[in-house]
Amino acid sequence: MAASRDSFENEEAEGSEGSQASSGVQVVLPSDPGAPAPLCPHGPTLLFVKMSQGKQETRKFYACSACRDRKDCNFFQWEDEKLSEARLAAREAQNQRCRPPLSRAHCVERYLMFIELPLVQRKFCQSCQQLLLPDDWGEHREHIVLADVSIAQLRRPSRLLFPLENKKTNAQYLFADRSCQFLVDLVSALGFRRVLCVGTPRLHELIRLAASGEKKSNIKSLLLDIDFRYSQFYLEDSFCRYNMFNHHFFDGKDALEVCRAFLQEEKGEGVIMVTDPPFGGLVEPLAITFRKLIAMWKEGQSQDDSHKELPIFWIFPYFFESRICQFFPSFCMLDYQVDYDNHALYKHGKTGRKQSPVRIFTNIPPSKIILPAEEGYRFCPLCQRYVSLENQHCEHCNACTSKDGRKWKHCFLCKKCVKPLFYFAAWNHCSTCSQCAVPDHSCAHPKSGCFICGELDHKRSTCPNVGIVKRANKAVRKQKQKQRKVIR
Ligand code: SAH
Ligand code: ZN
Ligand code: ZN
Ligand code: ZN
Ligand code: ZN
Repeated sequence: MAASRDSFENEEAEGSEGSQASSGVQVVLPSDPGAPAPLCPHGPTLLFVKMSQGKQETRKFYACSACRDRKDCNFFQWEDEKLSEARLAAREAQNQRCRPPLSRAHCVERYLMFIELPLVQRKFCQSCQQLLLPDDWGEHREHIVLADVSIAQLRRPSRLLFPLENKKTNAQYLFADRSCQFLVDLVSALGFRRVLCVGTPRLHELIRLAASGEKKSNIKSLLLDIDFRYSQFYLEDSFCRYNMFNHHFFDGKDALEVCRAFLQEEKGEGVIMVTDPPFGGLVEPLAITFRKLIAMWKEGQSQDDSHKELPIFWIFPYFFESRICQFFPSFCMLDYQVDYDNHALYKHGKTGRKQSPVRIFTNIPPSKIILPAEEGYRFCPLCQRYVSLENQHCEHCNACTSKDGRKWKHCFLCKKCVKPLFYFAAWNHCSTCSQCAVPDHSCAHPKSGCFICGELDHKRSTCPNVGIVKRANKAVRKQKQKQRKVIR
């Protein structure tokens, strides 16, 4: 879509749940609910409204649901705009042109031929990100071609393919092995037999590896992902090209039926959905999509199971907790920090170790989810859940309150635990901004929201919490004065 933002890259996003509104663009419902949204190459577009500072712009427009960068999909249409026949035809032609070079069925056919080839003839073109059949070799002679592609390599396409690095639209952040293994073990320990992987290609392949390994796990997996390169490695029953921002199946009804059958197998028993959407994506369209998948699952349930919920793991940064829980009140956030392979900052390791802000949101009772002691988690008997070691139980809040893995501190003025940075802020008055801020903030950051609560729709001076902070600052000043007196 037209807005540009990438919370994953953007450290400022931390602590501001409202960061997704930083572009001032919001998804809205169409004025005429019967009017179908126009189509871009990524399926039905979404309706947005741009909020400019101060005044509210009411002219709505349709833009791509999946692409947050106009370079990737420049679809734009005012809601009230009438297009000429010629423009509609041009758009349709453009949509056709953007289709992947090979149809889904053709990919499957090629895959079946590929696995029959002897090892020496199995080649993969890295330049084109494509498995090659002998007939294709000539065309790719000048390209970087990997030879002797083993069956083991074919089973790990997320290692064979380059992660898409297009930051805004399709940044692929692949799970580090230990996080991925943790998820596989967890799903298995919880007794699930089917996993609907929505935007989790690496998890999908690890589940399938476990199922084909010596200690057969019997867990089935279906991958829904927008990255068409995966079509080359899976049959129709294990991969559907899908857009999770508008619930669009690129290969039509047949693909939708694959998904439905998967969810409804065994009357919907034993299935869990695991999703790791791009972090720059808007929460609301994702939530609407997930509700559609839930509804699809529910159709297959027997009447007496009507109170049951589809088990879900939604992997997302912790600062979206309130947004996610707004849409799914039964979800809670686990303390487990999900680590990634190809993200320099959030990678677990000795060098440059930074705590990962990515968590698992789930409707499975947290007491059932054991987090590994060897990775620094412990069980809190009072909260009846596993938490990170630094997350201490606060007797005033009666909870383990830290969200970010650091030790939080109870603030009696706020009547809650606050992150240590927030606390330091009281000591750091910035003369440029003429307000208190975190020690290394960038002055007059244009996109930053309220320094007090992080919301973006107002500044510090109009924050509803400004009184609390003033009182807190006063208390801190008094305390400092007292300390000085004692020292003297
Ligand atoms: N951690 C996961 C990958 C998450 S990266 C793993 O290791 O398996 C986000 C994934 O979502 C990528 O695979 C990307 O291709 C996919 N994706 C991005 N936009 C999407 C969209 N609009 N619809 C469906 N999948 C999308
Ligand atoms: Zn598009
Ligand atoms: Zn090539
Ligand atoms: Zn506790
Ligand atoms: Zn507390």
